[in-house]
Amino acid sequence: MTETVTNWAGNITYAAKELHRPHSLDALGALVADSAKVRVLGSGHSFNEIAEPGADGVLLSLAALPPAIDVDTAARAVRVGGGVRYAELARQVHAHGLALPNMASLPHISVAGSVATGTHGSGVGNGPLASAVREVEIVTADGSTVVIGRGDERFGGAVTSLGALGVVTALTLDLEPSFDVEQHVFTELPLAGLDFATFETVMGSAYSVSMFTDWRAPGFRQVWLKRRTDQPLPDFPWAAPATEKMHPVPGMPAVNCTEQFGVPGPWHERLPHFRAEFVPSSGAELQSEYLLPRRYAVDALYAIDEIRETVAGVLQTCEVRTVAADEQWLSPAYGRGTVALHFTWIEDTAAVRPVVRRLEEALDGFEARPHWGKVFTAPAEVLGGRYPRLDDFRTLARDLDPGGKFANAFVREVLGA
Ligand SMILES: Cc1cc2nc3c(=O)[nH]c(=O)nc-3n(C[C@H](O)[C@H](O)[C@H](O)COP(=O)(O)OP(=O)(O)OC[C@H]3O[C@@H](n4cnc5c(N)ncnc54)[C@H](O)[C@@H]3O)c2cc1C
Repeated sequence: MTETVTNWAGNITYAAKELHRPHSLDALGALVADSAKVRVLGSGHSFNEIAEPGADGVLLSLAALPPAIDVDTAARAVRVGGGVRYAELARQVHAHGLALPNMASLPHISVAGSVATGTHGSGVGNGPLASAVREVEIVTADGSTVVIGRGDERFGGAVTSLGALGVVTALTLDLEPSFDVEQHVFTELPLAGLDFATFETVMGSAYSVSMFTDWRAPGFRQVWLKRRTDQPLPDFPWAAPATEKMHPVPGMPAVNCTEQFGVPGPWHERLPHFRAEFVPSSGAELQSEYLLPRRYAVDALYAIDEIRETVAGVLQTCEVRTVAADEQWLSPAYGRGTVALHFTWIEDTAAVRPVVRRLEEALDGFEARPHWGKVFTAPAEVLGGRYPRLDDFRTLARDLDPGGKFANAFVREVLGA
């Protein structure tokens, strides 16, 4: 490639032989049909080689396609093009008096890339972002389009598909009536004495709850409650209200974050932590995340506390969230109410990887599934045992992509294929 293309974090430089940004779906179809190896690059917010086609492959960006966002108010649905990001989608959905059920911590990411990796926000009743998908349109290896909707027996493999089935050119998502959210931040929730019942009450105390810690001392430095204004205001006796606006990463400016102190606002300006017009998170970082059955939440937190100093040495912040079970075969939340343990590391792969390995050892026994878009070291033989529908996914991938045009090294490695 003449152009150097990296992911958002800058830790991956794609080796692809060509980068293409087709301007029409016809051009995209022809390009796919004529290429031997293809991967799509979404907004590039993954931290590993999931989007890398390899040195003999084509990297395809959908950024130059017309940014289709068609809201159907009667059907409470939106059809969104494969290159569109949540920030623009949310603005248009909100303008129609409608809402997405949930968002991730940032609106900068593409919808297709997010649902492909099982990206999620928080909330005991909120599934991953892919749970809102009704239908997916995929340009497959020969350049033709396949449409798979709910009710189709292939649907469980079609949305959280790691980009391995083809090019997602459109998704139709469920909407609901617009709602307002208030954000309340608390500080210093102790780990000592935290039992599962209390954990469940804390995490269930609002529509979306996140706890943050730097692991420099036991316990949580911040707790963020995102309360829908149509739901009751909870008592929160476990921590003290924050006295200043906060950023989850120590030292970063709070102005980058969505409004706090209980000021109500539209769902898309409160559910993400970071505002669309600012750099999210710290901007100089790596990330890892492990999704575990929620019943292990407290035991897993105590297990991390035992290696607290090791973790803290390369950590910027750790976020604890919950995710409702979903039915996407490759979703890290597949079939189980989930606790998600996220780590924003320093930007130093050599220093971070041994700690990631140590963390994975500490979480051994808790059936952890790593976030597909973040840094992990667990091998295929471990991952395979954690995805009961993996064989069904392999079959679907063989049916839609018999020649393996969309299967890169990352996918072959993690699927053990
Ligand atoms: C600052 C920051 C904060 C984050 N916060 C969260 C969070 O709150 N929750 C969470 O779960 N994750 C979070 N993530 C991770 C992020 O959501 C995922 O990595 C997600 O996949 C990013 O989407 P993307 O479009 O950038 O994907 P990319 O990295 O571009 O691609 C991811 C995968 O999707 C495939 N893909 C993308 N578009 C298409 C398409 N149109 N057709 C077929 N395949 C496609 C790619 O080939 C690749 O396999 C965060 C990441 C960053 C950098």
